[in-house]
Amino acid sequence: MRIRENIPISELTTMRIGGPARYVIEVESIDDIPKAYEFAKEKSLPTFILGKGANTIGHDNGFDGIIIINKICGIRQNGNLITAQGGEEWDNVVEYACQKNLTGIEALSKIPGSAGAAPVQNIGAYGQDISQVFDSANVYDIKDHSFKTLQKSDFHFSYRKSILNTSEKNRYFVSSIALKLSIGQMPRPFYNSVERYITEHNCTDFTPQGIRNIVSKIRADKLPDPKEKASSGSFFKNVYLSEAEAKNAKLKNIPVYQGHDGFKINSGWLIEQAGLKGKLIHGMRINPKASLVLINESATGYSDLAKARDEIRTKIQTKFGFYLEQEPVEILDNPNTSSTTTKGVK
Ligand SMILES: Cc1cc2nc3c(=O)[nH]c(=O)nc-3n(C[C@H](O)[C@H](O)[C@H](O)COP(=O)(O)OP(=O)(O)OC[C@H]3O[C@@H](n4cnc5c(N)ncnc54)[C@H](O)[C@@H]3O)c2cc1C
Repeated sequence: MRIRENIPISELTTMRIGGPARYVIEVESIDDIPKAYEFAKEKSLPTFILGKGANTIGHDNGFDGIIIINKICGIRQNGNLITAQGGEEWDNVVEYACQKNLTGIEALSKIPGSAGAAPVQNIGAYGQDISQVFDSANVYDIKDHSFKTLQKSDFHFSYRKSILNTSEKNRYFVSSIALKLSIGQMPRPFYNSVERYITEHNCTDFTPQGIRNIVSKIRADKLPDPKEKASSGSFFKNVYLSEAEAKNAKLKNIPVYQGHDGFKINSGWLIEQAGLKGKLIHGMRINPKASLVLINESATGYSDLAKARDEIRTKIQTKFGFYLEQEPVEILDNPNTSSTTTKGVK
């Protein structure tokens, strides 16, 4: 277990914003997990679990607490069941599965982050999300200081949600996840942009590795590489609607899609229609190739990011009446407060 003091959150997160965390503990084995929480208890400090920081933002005043990072790595296979340690790079898990010709997560290629964080917001892309293949997770329960196995049904997965970012936020430290994959290929039709790419490039390989190659190319063309450009990926969630709301939106000529998880409007489309595509607002660039993504080009800190977020929200709310919910999580001194209140969207 490695303990460091006064580490800027900007160095631990891909958006590169945030002042110092009082302590950062890297857990390198299962035994380290309870030790890290004992340390927090001794110091009477709050804790925050961090993976690779690809969906997390710090505040300018930092965090007067302990950030616990899962560094336990490893992937193993038992038939169609893949088990990954929580600190493993998510994309290594996808690569491993594709090499074994297992289908179920190939469309989730190149999503930055750790395997342990993948169930937290039920990562999804190009028609797949992790809930579709999730089997179980080994967790450390901070409430009663015990190791447990949670089954898929315990997670209550929905769009960008699970109990880990709603009702049981901060309660479970995911030490490993198990995914039930299958032999075969993704069913057609694929996601619109994947089908479009296939037509344009005459692709014929739809094996897990083939889809992984296609998705990797689509993503490389439109999404920033967090190593080169500071970003948390999609900054806003898509807007989910009831059937009646969807009907109403269609009457106003707003494109509504029906996916496996309900009716949705692509929030990137709303941002583009509001004339914000490519704009630089308080140092945050609205990615010209995917308007849902904000890139930190020259923000001086969280306050700039918050101003940019609020301006975008106000424009969308005024023009369309939809409230854009923030996707990245914030590290707060008091985890029960939130500056990312949600209303009007699922
Ligand atoms: C360029 C880019 C593209 C992206 N594209 C997508 C995309 O297509 N689809 C998508 O869904 N997301 C996407 N994201 C968001 C991000 O990749 C995912 O949310 C990812 O799962 C974050 O992993 P992480 O390890 O970095 O999580 P972190 O940012 O470190 O943590 C995120 C949340 O998970 C919690 N957490 C982390 N590890 C654990 C653990 N071991 N146990 C319990 N809780 C934990 C944290 O407390 C926090 O609440 C993108 C991000 C970037 C930067």
